[in-house]
Amino acid sequence: MEFAPAADEPDWQQLDQSVFSFRTAERYENYASEILALYQLVYADFTDLFNVTLEDIEVQFFIPEFETLLSVGGFIPFTGQTLGEININIFFVRAVNGTIQAIALHELVHHFLWETGLSPDSFLWVHEGGAQYVSIETVDDLGYEGADIERTRLEQVASQLISQTGESFGYLQEWTPANPPADISRNYAASYYVVSRLAEEYGGLDFYRQFFRLIRGLEIQTNDELAFHLSLAANASVDLKLKLWGFDIRLLYNGSKISPDRIYEAEKALDGLNPAFLPYSLVAELFYQQALLRLERGDVNGANQFLDATILMANLAPVLTLLTLTAILAVIVYLLYKRSSRPRLEPPALPPLFEETAA
Ligand SMILES: [Zn+2]
Repeated sequence: MEFAPAADEPDWQQLDQSVFSFRTAERYENYASEILALYQLVYADFTDLFNVTLEDIEVQFFIPEFETLLSVGGFIPFTGQTLGEININIFFVRAVNGTIQAIALHELVHHFLWETGLSPDSFLWVHEGGAQYVSIETVDDLGYEGADIERTRLEQVASQLISQTGESFGYLQEWTPANPPADISRNYAASYYVVSRLAEEYGGLDFYRQFFRLIRGLEIQTNDELAFHLSLAANASVDLKLKLWGFDIRLLYNGSKISPDRIYEAEKALDGLNPAFLPYSLVAELFYQQALLRLERGDVNGANQFLDATILMANLAPVLTLLTLTAILAVIVYLLYKRSSRPRLEPPALPPLFEETAA
């Protein structure tokens, strides 16, 4: 949709530049031009990275409510079918150099990700993690100091999170625009962590560039498919890595040279296992984690052994729990029995009464 400045609103300006148009109050025109110039500057790189182009992207400033004054840097209305215009918080125009640039690029990345076919409904963690990672890297490359501040902040939240709950991010899969968590900053930090660590390990932005080439024209709907294509792009088992981070995904990538059936068998055994069968259900889980860790290191034999151990332990857990409980019960019964059958201490015979001896 095109905006035309209404005749009775002479203060409004519409700035058009290639696929972008910025509707702004006249007094913010310079800031709007700067953002458009930034979008122009990165556009070729972003189309190369995401392997898609954009059409008709509208941008505007918004004046936030008092409560959200500095907590929302930008947003895009999302109906489930389309992404709306990019909204940028006007209060950030005077923030540290690079802050509003990072916000503007963050929102732009959402539009590129949408064009690649990844919906925020299915992959909000990819959207937010990707938007943060790419915007910070780009702003950093452009030499703004704001990038470092934002990166440090996210790393701090992430390391605090990891010190509390370990590298366990499975909850990111449940995150959708309609289902925000109580602590949203946790999800932002965790998704940034996952996206940036994968980049660190598998080749930075080139890794993602390769990924977006691979998914061109495909409709990626599930985390399984996503993990599979990330693995293809990395030429390594990214799916395993995600699994180790608590994502619930099926391992479709066969680079690990292990039969997926074996892994499914172990997972099925674990799924059918009642967690109340302690401590054996826990031991089975630990074996499974060990199998994945060995698989990740390329130790196929070790992984197989632990998968066997997982299946065995999961299958035996009910019996072992029963045996353990029986054994404990037997010990208790035995102790009680011993106690009750212990010869009673007879009180010593009373000494003869005084009168008797005196007699
Ligand atoms: Zn976002």
